[in-house]
Amino acid sequence: MAHISTYNFEGKRALIRVDFNVPLDKETLEVTDDTRIRAAKKTIDYILSKGGSIVLMSHLGRPKSAADSQYSLKHIISHTQHVLGHPVKFAGDCIGEDAYRMSAALKKNEILMLENLRFYEEETIGDRIFSEKLAKHGDVYVNDAFGTAHRAHASTAIIADFFPDDKMFGFLIEDEIKSVDKILNSDEKPLTAIVGGAKVSSKITIIEMLIDKVDNLIVGGGMAFTFVKAQGGKVGSSLIEEDYLDTAKRILKIAKEKGVNLYIPVDAIIADNFSNAANTKEVNISEIPDGWMGLDAGTQTRKDCEEIISKSKLILWNGPMGVFEMSKFEGGTKALAYAIAEATSKGAFSLIGGGDSVAAINQFHLADKVSYVSTGGGAMLEYLEGIELPGIAAVTGN
Ligand code: AMP
Repeated sequence: MAHISTYNFEGKRALIRVDFNVPLDKETLEVTDDTRIRAAKKTIDYILSKGGSIVLMSHLGRPKSAADSQYSLKHIISHTQHVLGHPVKFAGDCIGEDAYRMSAALKKNEILMLENLRFYEEETIGDRIFSEKLAKHGDVYVNDAFGTAHRAHASTAIIADFFPDDKMFGFLIEDEIKSVDKILNSDEKPLTAIVGGAKVSSKITIIEMLIDKVDNLIVGGGMAFTFVKAQGGKVGSSLIEEDYLDTAKRILKIAKEKGVNLYIPVDAIIADNFSNAANTKEVNISEIPDGWMGLDAGTQTRKDCEEIISKSKLILWNGPMGVFEMSKFEGGTKALAYAIAEATSKGAFSLIGGGDSVAAINQFHLADKVSYVSTGGGAMLEYLEGIELPGIAAVTGN
């Protein structure tokens, strides 16, 4: 593979796979969150500054066919121009003669965006012929779409075969990989992971991996109640996965054997229904009355977490501590986010990964107070779990 910082882009057309799968307003079809477009700016600016031209390719949503015009990338052109501060041409198809003519005519310092790749089912199937057709748009392939790196799609993986010596990662993927590697492979200690969110079942693989690496593992959110019940606690109507009680017991045992400080919340804010208008009170986490459910971390839990985090040198956070989408139950997640920001200001390295914790850190306006906020939810989790991502392997492999 080549490297973006040392590659000679002078006079070359860089075909960049970006992840511009951004949310659009249902009525106006305007971009409502441009985080992913901003995240690609560094790579785009750099290649233009080195004398290249750029062909951007992305998917948007899950269209059934090209007739699904609400998924056309033409809707994001004007916003993309605004974010990049640069004109962006648009090809109404991602392959075909018209599109090839436009990419072939690109001059130095020009940008062209291709139409939604998923208007062709060949994209998600990972079709080779379609990948070869896409490859015609560039002299060099740059993968900067971390959010789709866990998919073996035509534009994220298969296409790399057509650029044996001219394939590389963009800065976004490079930074994502560096930040995970720093968490998993650094000698600094203590390493604290906070795994929250709804279910043990969706986080079990990452917990099993982390338990081998971390000094402290804080379990939070809805999934904590399966651990509380496994230890004999009364959890009322809190979220429980009966099938995972044995798994929780096994994790508790492994943590003990390995000397990992596995922290399970000690108190909770409970509610008499799943609503922001519910009646609430604070109780010991293993004494939740029938008809009540735990929806946020309690005062002592917040203090304990703050203390653990303040002493940590490396921090990984995935999944909220409570139902932070409702203002009544955002306090535990907010306290945690502030504690991570505070530790970061004192020199700790903090990585926030996974959709909901990213939403939470943005909700509390703390994204620029932590070391790194990942753009790839599923991809970040799989990379952390040690799974080889097709989009990464296609570029690093020969
Ligand atoms: P995940 O996608 O697994 O990270 O889960 C995130 C979701 O977990 C968020 O939508 C939270 O509202 C939800 N969540 C967090 N704590 C609880 C809880 N105590 N009970 C129910 N849902 C929760």
